[in-house]
Amino acid sequence: MNKPLVHAVNVGKSFGKNEVLKGIDLDVHPGEVVVLLGPSGSGKTTFLRCINQLETIDAGRIWVDDDLMGYRDKEGQLYRLKDSEIAAQRREIGMVFQRFNLFPHMTALENVMEAPVQVKGVSKAEAKSQAVDLLERVGLGEKTGHYPSQLSGGQQQRVAIARALAMKPKLMLFDEPTSALDPELVGEVLSVMKELAREGMTMVVVTHEMGFARDVADRVVFMDAGVVVETGPPLEVINNPQHERTKSFLARMR
Ligand code: ADP
Repeated sequence: MNKPLVHAVNVGKSFGKNEVLKGIDLDVHPGEVVVLLGPSGSGKTTFLRCINQLETIDAGRIWVDDDLMGYRDKEGQLYRLKDSEIAAQRREIGMVFQRFNLFPHMTALENVMEAPVQVKGVSKAEAKSQAVDLLERVGLGEKTGHYPSQLSGGQQQRVAIARALAMKPKLMLFDEPTSALDPELVGEVLSVMKELAREGMTMVVVTHEMGFARDVADRVVFMDAGVVVETGPPLEVINNPQHERTKSFLARMR
């Protein structure tokens, strides 16, 4: 098999005395869609944030595309890439949050153009034509001039996905992208994500949407209390869980 894009080994992370991640191992290969499942508080969001260096891990190592992410060793000594290298890494990793975090004073188009122009120095004309393409791709070709307040939650989340894609990331991280949405708006966001997966994007997705996990994931990872309890193809884990904790979680999801 080809080299993993994300290679996480024995990752640990504590907040004070609260040990949130207790030795997580995970490889994500190019083009793979991995869904993280598990009860609230099991460490899924924290793990996602560690991949993007929004949190610094205090045990283990994470490599993204062969770059070693920062970590704190047992003595508390911090090892990290230079700020410029972290910024370069982050440019290559798109993240979509539960709350869409769009700039409220900018139109959909301007939101999508912002980072390529400001961070990558792409010309405005090029960024605009790319943003129009991306907004069309997420089904919002008619809404380019709308402000976030004029868009539904589902539309705002699709703008947020287009905005992340504008940086041409090699990896997309989704943190419960549909859990702040009214139920009738969930499907439109999931279908954009499904299309992205079909096009070969490498994705790590935290979600409670079992249908998405079943249909789109190459692999699901069930986490509980900071450890990976079980992992495998979605049909195996979801239809035939081996561990009690997975069984009881899935029973509650039904
Ligand atoms: P999940 O995504 O599975 O719901 P989280 O990663 O959000 O789990 O949270 C795991 C644990 O880490 C929780 O106990 C939460 O309170 C704690 N936690 C998360 N972020 C912080 C933080 N910035 N400071 C302190 N505790 C945190």
